[in-house]
Amino acid sequence: MTDKNRVFIFDTTLRDGEQSPGMSMNLKEKIEMAKQLERMGVDVIEAGFAISSPGDFQSVQAIADTVKNCTVASLARASEEDIDTAWSAVKGSAAPQIHLFLATSELHMKYKLKMTKKEVFDTAVAMTKRAKKYCSDIQFSAEDATRSDMDFLEKVIRGVVKAGATTINLPDTVGYTTPEEHKAFFEEIRRRVPELEDVILSCHCHNDLGLGVANSLAAVRGGARQVECTVNGIGERAGNAAMEEILMALYVRKNFYEVWANADTTEILRSSSLLSRITGVKVQPNKAIVGENAFAHEAGIHQHGVLAKAETYEIMTPASVGLKESNLVLGKHSGKHAFRDRLTTLGYTLSDEELSEAFKKFKDLADRKKSVYDKDIEAIVAKETVQVPKTYTLDRFVINSGNTITSTATVAVSREGKQTEKVARGSGPIDAAFKAIDKACGRKFDLDDYQIDAVSEGEDALGDARVVLRSDSGRTYSGRGLSTDVIEASIKAYINAINKMYYEEKEN
Ligand SMILES: [Zn+2]
Repeated sequence: MTDKNRVFIFDTTLRDGEQSPGMSMNLKEKIEMAKQLERMGVDVIEAGFAISSPGDFQSVQAIADTVKNCTVASLARASEEDIDTAWSAVKGSAAPQIHLFLATSELHMKYKLKMTKKEVFDTAVAMTKRAKKYCSDIQFSAEDATRSDMDFLEKVIRGVVKAGATTINLPDTVGYTTPEEHKAFFEEIRRRVPELEDVILSCHCHNDLGLGVANSLAAVRGGARQVECTVNGIGERAGNAAMEEILMALYVRKNFYEVWANADTTEILRSSSLLSRITGVKVQPNKAIVGENAFAHEAGIHQHGVLAKAETYEIMTPASVGLKESNLVLGKHSGKHAFRDRLTTLGYTLSDEELSEAFKKFKDLADRKKSVYDKDIEAIVAKETVQVPKTYTLDRFVINSGNTITSTATVAVSREGKQTEKVARGSGPIDAAFKAIDKACGRKFDLDDYQIDAVSEGEDALGDARVVLRSDSGRTYSGRGLSTDVIEASIKAYINAINKMYYEEKEN
């Protein structure tokens, strides 16, 4: 066993997080997110639930092949087919893990599994043995552990540890527990099962009562040495425990928790913003650690204090979570070298091809916008790193709009070199433009959400549009578009979402 004071970070952004509404990511996006998690230094990346769909299988496999410095796990139910599929997906990894789960609470066994206690016990042991034949690293999760009978839970844990499980995870699947109770629960199970000292004991908390992070930290106090969490706390229902909050609590209150984690806290903000950019879902401004206002001091008395001595109102430095000062950096006359240097400082490594593409966009932006800020650059680059093939490209558009006329839009798009131009009327310029695109594509798209924000300050700020389209199967596709012209940004976002939909329809 390793250092008893080390807490392993098990990231399930790509599994528990990705399966929640509005968070779907395509293959490229998942790989990009996994690479960032690797750069951050999390210990385990749960890449997906291999058997749930061919797309999930493919992304688990691709992440297993790509990521070198983290364990890569696939979730599997306690069934032969699930385990075999999980193994085929993760076996290419340098450090593969099969994550098995089976519910142990009365409620789940009776109504969901329709299995007796004996059947659950026997299945858990048999399936752990089966998984162990393939893979040395086996995590067993006793689903709904916090509502399970202690005697039975104890028995199951003993059985699966003996069968070869190397991590035992006790999820608070429905977000029901409280911190004091959760700490006592972990202490009690360790007292009952001394064998747990030789495996990693893990917690997995949901946020239904807003206690996900508090419960995870309480579990650590109770002896858990792995925390399962997600970036920005995304996940089923109210979400999972937020990784950034757990990491910073352990870091800022090291004197209290007396444990350490390997993950690099200065990568927190980049992970958070990458996820927001990919999914198009922003965190609330007052969100701890990663919210827009987390390090802003508005009240005069606070500002005065912070200026005099930062610690008066700051328990952690903005730099410790990777927040960099956003100074005026580049303009129209900045060259490719300066641009590349700035990217390096911001932590981006682009291929030559990506760099050229991004530089072209930067030049285009600098022509329209006097001051180009770090945020603008990050917006350009984030768009560049996660790209899908462009089934449709925008050629041109003309909008005619006003408060006394019906808006009309003429939009020309190309597909495989063939251009189609269509005109449509709408209840505003954006609506008209989207309708014209629908006509040009010969397909009616279902608009689920539309937002536009400014990337940075000023009248010439870059507009950042987000469009979410819903397919017939209920899957959502979010597209982004950037431009100093909000209508152009919106059209680009709409076409980007369409391209993602076509990309995935082709893939699966
Ligand atoms: Zn969960």
